[in-house]
Amino acid sequence: MTRLHVVGAGIAGLAAATAAATRGVRVVLWEAAPQAGGRCRSFDDARLGRRIDNGNHLVLSGNRATAAYLDRIGGRGEMHEIAPAAYPFVDLATGERWTLRPGRGPVPLWLADPARRPPGTRLGELGRGLGLLWAGRRRAAAAVLGDGTGYARFWDPLVTAVLNTDPAEAAAHLMRPVLLETFARGEPACRPVIARTGLDDALVAPALRLLRDRGAEIRLGARVDGLDLADDGVRALHAAGERVELTPSDGIVLATPPWITAELVPDHAAPAAYSPIVNAHFALAEGGAAPPALVGLVGGAAQWIFRRPGLASVTVSAADALVDLPADELARRFWPEVRRALDLGDAPLPAFRIIKEKRATPRQTPAAAARRWPTRTRWRGLALAGDWIDTGLPATIESAVRSGEAAVRTLARGVAPDDTTARIA
Ligand SMILES: Cc1cc2nc3c(=O)[nH]c(=O)nc-3n(C[C@H](O)[C@H](O)[C@H](O)COP(=O)(O)OP(=O)(O)OC[C@H]3O[C@@H](n4cnc5c(N)ncnc54)[C@H](O)[C@@H]3O)c2cc1C
Repeated sequence: MTRLHVVGAGIAGLAAATAAATRGVRVVLWEAAPQAGGRCRSFDDARLGRRIDNGNHLVLSGNRATAAYLDRIGGRGEMHEIAPAAYPFVDLATGERWTLRPGRGPVPLWLADPARRPPGTRLGELGRGLGLLWAGRRRAAAAVLGDGTGYARFWDPLVTAVLNTDPAEAAAHLMRPVLLETFARGEPACRPVIARTGLDDALVAPALRLLRDRGAEIRLGARVDGLDLADDGVRALHAAGERVELTPSDGIVLATPPWITAELVPDHAAPAAYSPIVNAHFALAEGGAAPPALVGLVGGAAQWIFRRPGLASVTVSAADALVDLPADELARRFWPEVRRALDLGDAPLPAFRIIKEKRATPRQTPAAAARRWPTRTRWRGLALAGDWIDTGLPATIESAVRSGEAAVRTLARGVAPDDTTARIA
């Protein structure tokens, strides 16, 4: 492969583009939006007078592909790792507070100590999570985890955040790799890692710098709206009013969202349903240089608050019940919870911004997980990427990075045009 066209400059596309560029491949990156980052982006908000992200993003120290990506692009210093791992929680209904501090070893013996568990939970309830490790592919997470305080204060927040799907319908088996790669490797692998100043500074801008330094052509605001597919491969792509011819030694990674990929690659169907995430950003008084922090909430509407100087940002995953409410109503609902969690007294509602991502991820049910698409396609030189590709992981940054790198490896190896493993009904 001498030249690689990457379509989509989200994290999957950036992972593919930077992996190829560092191997000496000429890269052309096509992005429909005026900025890179996709679902992981930052912007200056004039009303708040702050730079904000579309939504809070948490990665874990055990996300090894993300860590390697950050090292490759030089973004690691823009992420803050909370070490040793600590997850403070507040129950908004009762006012109880606790902090989960995972132990160092791979076996979670720390959960045997009642003082280290969420208050009121029993070891047996938390131990039900072991069932996620060998859950069948048709089971929903909540059916494995049961109910009770252990579910409400531990498993529900964890599964909802990771799968962005109500645990009552979320695919239990998708939690397995997450638990094995993070919590089952002990404290060093389950530290929260969050952007210091913003997602763009850590995950996007350094990747674009690397690409520019390697001579890549970066085409922002250039939508790819068609591929000329022939039996022996991709002849051309159409973008921004141009027809760009491809040679047999060119490759294409389509790192677009599923509904766009389904338009560009005819014999594939996009996932049927998506799950929303709602974020609420509140401008707090500037000042101080405290490192970014997070707090989990149960018993209210808000699920997590991420804090950095001058900003408190609420996240609600699987937010079907909230996503259609007006922004003012959401802000008025979240603000008392933020005040309570952060001990802000009776501070009046500050300037806020509500961001609703209606298609934050596919709805990760057992049926949807069974229909994820592979990296390969039946066209020589065309591979697929995106968090929703079948990486074995839930649709997350880690999955996006792995999918992009897998697409480049697939193209580098070459794919026979008659390889029917790539076909999907
Ligand atoms: C609010 C929110 C919170 C989240 N929180 C977390 C979290 O805490 N932890 C975590 O790991 N993950 C989280 N995620 C998921 C994470 O953001 C995604 O998994 C990841 O960003 C997906 O990257 P991607 O490259 O696969 O897709 P996208 O980011 O969707 O990238 C696709 C790109 O393709 C571009 N494009 C579309 N059509 C075309 C076209 N025709 N031509 C050219 N370009 C095109 C799009 O503009 C976009 O830039 C969250 C997502 C959201 C929305």
